Amino acid sequence: MVETRRRFLAIGGGAAAASLALSIRPAAALMQDRGAVRATGQDMPGNVELPASPPEPGSSDSIGFAIVGLGGYALNQMMPRFEQAKGAHIAAIVSGNPDKLRRVGDAYGIPADARHSYETFGNIAGDDRIDAVYIALPSGLHAEWAIQAFAAGKHVLCEKPMALSSAECERMIAASRRADRKLMIAYRSHFEPHNMQAMELMAQDATGQLRLIRAENSYRMQPTTPAENWRVDRALAGGGPLEDLGIYSLQAALYLAGEMPESISASTFKPADDPRFAQIFAHVSSHWRFPSGAVAQIATSYDSAGINFAEARGTTGALTLKPATSYSGQKMTLESGGDRRELSPGDPSVQFAGQLDHFVDAIRNNTPIRTPGEMGLRDLRLMEAIYAAAATGRTVHLNPDGTMRG
Ligand code: NAD
Repeated sequence: MVETRRRFLAIGGGAAAASLALSIRPAAALMQDRGAVRATGQDMPGNVELPASPPEPGSSDSIGFAIVGLGGYALNQMMPRFEQAKGAHIAAIVSGNPDKLRRVGDAYGIPADARHSYETFGNIAGDDRIDAVYIALPSGLHAEWAIQAFAAGKHVLCEKPMALSSAECERMIAASRRADRKLMIAYRSHFEPHNMQAMELMAQDATGQLRLIRAENSYRMQPTTPAENWRVDRALAGGGPLEDLGIYSLQAALYLAGEMPESISASTFKPADDPRFAQIFAHVSSHWRFPSGAVAQIATSYDSAGINFAEARGTTGALTLKPATSYSGQKMTLESGGDRRELSPGDPSVQFAGQLDHFVDAIRNNTPIRTPGEMGLRDLRLMEAIYAAAATGRTVHLNPDGTMRG
């Protein structure tokens, strides 16, 4: 059974490659009216702790990254983790805010000629100090900036979600192939010990035959408007919580099940007269059926009390992760045959540097990427199926590569 399930989840193989060659399917209605978006300078996020002294310079064979977008995640999570990575360093920064460029550049010891505005980004093409670009911009800007980075001849590590439509993902993959440069999506849970052990346990049928997956990623967003916060602006955030948070549940459902869903039904909700949800959804909930007969319930919300949870229940036991995909503090329990064990396979904080090391290895040694662009594309196809199912109120049937049938 397990082999049958896992066969359906092969990424980047024939099915994905073949479907790329097909004509580009029109994006779901939600994705069509996003309007023009562009990268602009923003204030320094709150609570940023810059290094007291610049990190040691990278060794001569270390891979140099340009960081594009100096927001909360780049400054608080990823940039400090470069020191823990084995062969990666920050070689350049790109921001639309000159004050942030100066403060962050000084703190990280970035040379003045490696501090770029969005307008001078193209100059990185001739800069041998930069091998790769890490894109940490709002999600609606990922495709454009990844494609620009490929045009400059650089490898790309792109934040999740890969983009806001499968058509954008296809363009990014095509640009990566044209430039003969690597593309990886920064799905950090694939480098986090609890999630990695969960994948292994499920591949070994540790809960018997899989029957049910439930996963939820939610929190309650403070009052805000699209003008104040890109996360509620459809042009930059798509449908909202699904692309931002629900993607973790979507991913967990796939790597716990080890197979692609064959059908999806879904519903969305947005309250009236709430500026947070003028352009995006408040909740997105979907129900999946897998070829094995297992089902999944995936929920995400920007307007309910916080939860980060994934659970797989089989015929003989259950595997529960709560929190499942946070930055730290993962907890995992395996119930099996009347026995209940808490599993602590390692420190979750290794996930950040782990993905950098993995990408560096792929760049240097041409090793396969665990979270390639094809995986990001697959996930956008599933999100489009979820929105299409919710918009029509009908069950959407899927091909094995996640494209909608019929
Ligand atoms: P943020 O709002 O803190 O930062 C976004 C940054 O992008 C801004 O500071 C600014 O430097 C830049 N920017 C350029 N043009 C902009 C525009 N038009 N509007 C707003 N900002 C603009 O956001 P964040 O939380 O750092 O998220 C950035 C990316 O990282 C998103 O794609 C998000 O999904 C991803 N992310 C990933 C994780 C993870 O765990 N992997 C966690 C948080 C965010």
